[in-house]
Amino acid sequence: MAIVQAESIVQNAARQVLAPRAAECLVCYVDRLLEQHGCDNTHRFTEQYRAASAPRHTALVKRLARMGACCCDCEIFLNAYRPAWNLWTPDRRVEAPDGFVEFIESSPPASMPPCAGVPRGSVKPCEHWERIW
Ligand SMILES: [Zn+2]
Ligand SMILES: [Zn+2]
Repeated sequence: MAIVQAESIVQNAARQVLAPRAAECLVCYVDRLLEQHGCDNTHRFTEQYRAASAPRHTALVKRLARMGACCCDCEIFLNAYRPAWNLWTPDRRVEAPDGFVEFIESSPPASMPPCAGVPRGSVKPCEHWERIW
């Protein structure tokens, strides 16, 4: 009994730490938590978001699976969504004094800006993300 109680206290504490911020979208939330806690090869943060913010979206994991994130949270960023193009550093040509021109390809942002926000109950990403096709 004491062990069960201790476990439920730990779970409650974890739930608070893991709560999505106000209006935070699914993808920003999962991105933020993966950065802090890493992926454990499950959809735990997706499920956590759903439970906290969008309980009616019971097919959320299935929907993400169809988008290519079949097995775990980090696959969302491999197969489903990437940072919106306007957040990437642009292509650049850097010309050295000796005339040598180096071409630097655009790259994704080193860190994401704070979530742009979505209506409560939505499981869509905010404007900082776009679909990977
Ligand atoms: Zn993963
Ligand atoms: Zn967002």
